Amino acid sequence: MFAAMRSFGMEAVHLFSDAATGLEAIIAIHNTRLGPALGGCRYQPYGSLDLALADAMRLARGMSYKAALAGLPHGGGKTVILRPPHVDDRAALFEAYGRAIESLRGRYITAMDSGTSNQDMDCIAQHTGHVTSTTAAGDPSPHTALGVLAGIRAAARAQLGSDSLDGVRICVQGAGNVGSALVAMLAAEGADVLVADLDTGKVHLLVDEYGGQPVAPDAVFETPCDIFAPCGLGGVLNHDSIMQLRCAVVAGAANNQLADPEAANALDARGILYAPDYVINAGGLLHVALTHQQTSPGEIAERVKGIGQRLDMIFADSQAESRSPSVIADRQAEAILYPEQG
Ligand code: NAD
Repeated sequence: MFAAMRSFGMEAVHLFSDAATGLEAIIAIHNTRLGPALGGCRYQPYGSLDLALADAMRLARGMSYKAALAGLPHGGGKTVILRPPHVDDRAALFEAYGRAIESLRGRYITAMDSGTSNQDMDCIAQHTGHVTSTTAAGDPSPHTALGVLAGIRAAARAQLGSDSLDGVRICVQGAGNVGSALVAMLAAEGADVLVADLDTGKVHLLVDEYGGQPVAPDAVFETPCDIFAPCGLGGVLNHDSIMQLRCAVVAGAANNQLADPEAANALDARGILYAPDYVINAGGLLHVALTHQQTSPGEIAERVKGIGQRLDMIFADSQAESRSPSVIADRQAEAILYPEQG
């Protein structure tokens, strides 16, 4: 366990169990140098405790990098709650989790993630103030989409010579909470939007409302476009899919888009500009963190749009050094997180 913690660079891993409600939770705290750890709470079944621990630590580390480059006074943390096969009282389970968070006295702030809802956060909020993305705070997805739009503009500036999206052909993979908001924004910019989702009903609703064309989910990679925006699941950029791509830019919301570190080099080798996922998709985190700090909506929107300037700098360094933007982003985040190593 300690070797695994060292390999992820973790500060602490807390385990909580509450027999009365069936709660079994792992709270992984990666780094609190910049401020309290902030990160979502996953609620899903895991094949083993080791898998759950590894997921929590990997995700917590990712949050540290994301918060550092978003300029937030937060470190990275993540909770994994092992979803039992049956739960009598979901509200009671999340209340017990709220008490667990309170016992950490502000070192970790929790938020919504896969398998949890605003209503779950409301249950947690009955026992601790260290929770965000409650019903009152709202859905972060439109803010994520706004940041992705700013990132797409930055990528267009760097790779297409102009940040006007008028007539630019953009293929959005995944028409969920973020993807559908992004499609609406791109259509308003005059982009020529293509949309793919496993759920064709979602695609048709969007195309009816905003125009654009549906694309079959298995044809997204080979569909010619200027910008490919992955907004579905992670791991979509692997050797095979990258070889099929017929675009100049990859810039989208999905977490962990690169199937492995080699994928960044493969994109580079094909001359495709890649916007590092944890930089371009930080709009939701900015919204969650800044809402918690009671920042005004106008200021939050400005901070989210600032994702474009962060990417301008990453793309400039990437070009100057002939290195992948993903290597540059990691290096910039590590310089903030570990200044003593600089
Ligand atoms: P969501 O579940 O609402 O939507 C995902 C959509 O992708 C679904 O409609 C699903 O049918 C579709 N999809 C899945 N696999 C697909 C495939 N192979 N081809 C086409 N469509 C496919 O999720 P979301 O909240 O919109 O988030 C989208 C991505 O962005 C996720 O990777 C998420 O981790 C990441 N992200 C989301 C936020 C946020 O604020 N919601 C913030 C940061 C990152």
